[in-house]
Amino acid sequence: MQKRVQIESRKVQTVYLPLAASSLKIHSKITSQSQSQTLTQSQHNTIKVNQKQIKVHNRSLKTRNNIQKEMLSQTDSCTNKVLTERNLEIDSSLIEPQTTTSIKQFQLVWQSPYRPHIYTIYFPYPQLLQQTRSQQFLVEQIKKPLYYKLQGQVPFKCVLSAFEAAGFEKSDEDNWLIYWGLASKETLDEMKQYQKTNHFPGCWSIGRKDNLWIHLSKVKRRFPNEYSFIPNTYLLKNDFDRFEKIREFAPKNTFWIKKPVASAKGNGIKLIDKNTKLTADKRYLVMDYISNPHLLNNFKYDLRVYVLITSIDPLRVYMYKDGLVRFATQEYSLKSEDIKKRFIHLTNFSVNKQSPNFIVNNQEMEQQVKASKWSHKEYKQQLMAQGINHKLLFKSIKDVVLKTCIAAETLLLKNRITMEHKNNYFELFGFDILIDEQLKPWLLEVNVCPSLNSSSQLDTQIKTKLISDMFHLIGIQYHTKKAFRIQIKKKQYERNINVIQTINTTNFRQKVNQEDLDVMIQSLEEQLRLGQFKCLYPNKKNIFEYEKYFEYPRFHNKLIQKYFEDGSNWII
Ligand code: ADP
Repeated sequence: MQKRVQIESRKVQTVYLPLAASSLKIHSKITSQSQSQTLTQSQHNTIKVNQKQIKVHNRSLKTRNNIQKEMLSQTDSCTNKVLTERNLEIDSSLIEPQTTTSIKQFQLVWQSPYRPHIYTIYFPYPQLLQQTRSQQFLVEQIKKPLYYKLQGQVPFKCVLSAFEAAGFEKSDEDNWLIYWGLASKETLDEMKQYQKTNHFPGCWSIGRKDNLWIHLSKVKRRFPNEYSFIPNTYLLKNDFDRFEKIREFAPKNTFWIKKPVASAKGNGIKLIDKNTKLTADKRYLVMDYISNPHLLNNFKYDLRVYVLITSIDPLRVYMYKDGLVRFATQEYSLKSEDIKKRFIHLTNFSVNKQSPNFIVNNQEMEQQVKASKWSHKEYKQQLMAQGINHKLLFKSIKDVVLKTCIAAETLLLKNRITMEHKNNYFELFGFDILIDEQLKPWLLEVNVCPSLNSSSQLDTQIKTKLISDMFHLIGIQYHTKKAFRIQIKKKQYERNINVIQTINTTNFRQKVNQEDLDVMIQSLEEQLRLGQFKCLYPNKKNIFEYEKYFEYPRFHNKLIQKYFEDGSNWII
């Protein structure tokens, strides 16, 4: 036993080169006269780029230094203090996204500051956004063909333009790096470690309204106050009699909303009251109706919040900074003659776009306040103008999102993801959140395939940036032989969760094996590629607060927690 630990510990040291030996400084070294030292052997091994060619290329870029220095100051905030303090960022003034197209034989890639042998594909923002992504940690690698594969229909424009901007081409073979769509079981079984697909096998169950309730209500029984953000729900299959009793004794003018358990776009939804005839139809559920929504210009609205999960065990959850606000198109009213009016009570875009009152948001200032869809940015400005603390509101939305993901964790893990395929999945969810007049967020549902259609300039801007940021964050590996050799050497070990308690700064190399380190580093790496995403979990600030909501403690969640708790930097 003792022996194996020692071997593991040695392996760790060989794989994770000290950061100083990474190739991150290469660009600055070879272009600066005063610092023109020769590169160390390990640097030569890490980046296989013809230096002569880089020199020529960099000279032409030097003239743009000033503009790019400005750009650097706008880069994503790097969450890892040690890196910033040690000033290990790549000299971003020497590279910019245009190089992907101007120099055909090289490709810009993101190089991990923790694992210099790991490169991921850099996704420059598509041109229509006229924005530049953070240049931190970029290096050049010999260009390779990059392929995506599609299932079913032609994907949304925002997905295609993100692929195009990064130099991806469509493929029908098995040489893809990203599979977009619902992959077959055989495809999933045969995925290589560096391939990624946009659905977890268990994701479909969370998109069903009945499953979501079943899982959230389980946690709600343990934490009634903390999980009070989902309206009480009754599955007509199981809860019909109970609901009828509740309805009988409810005050006059109480409303509920009846929905199909597995449908979308407002289909089959209607409001009911004490007198509506109801049967125990198993295809439906009934939910308490939030009858006091917060209104803007007298209209009801809900928020579409984009949430990205890149791993379930350990859990990694991100929320996008921007999103959509969808308005009803008739002024709010609870009069009994109005309860059948869908343009008053439903905020779905697919419902309201049929209304003659629907106003497209083309992001023109005079039009914007009246538009039937807003960005979160516009929404926050409006709240601010009304003296409402939007930061507090969004803090509680993040809380709802994270608690929901934690409650759904076991559901998502149900179709057991093997160790081998742990890193193959990511999922973008669309959370529908209603805000009541007390500014309390309510979770209405979680959409597995949020619409990525762009019916206005506003949609195009938000969704194109979202998708590009998502692909950048998930870290699609730019495959090198060295990385592959390291990956296939990996072994799995039975992990005992109690070990974590005994780990500290001095002994972690004996107690933590290479796979554990990889898992921790992936979290830290993703935090360096955030774009407009905010990391909800694992987050140093709140990881302890949310620990209690997990049904089962998981080794790697706990390990990361321990790492944060310890405070010292085990990794570099
Ligand atoms: P769908 O999947 O068909 O879009 P949702 O559950 O999102 O179904 O409901 C559609 C719309 O109905 C929501 O956008 C919201 O405006 C309204 N709605 C749904 N549930 C409630 C509720 N409990 N209280 C108030 N309004 C609701």
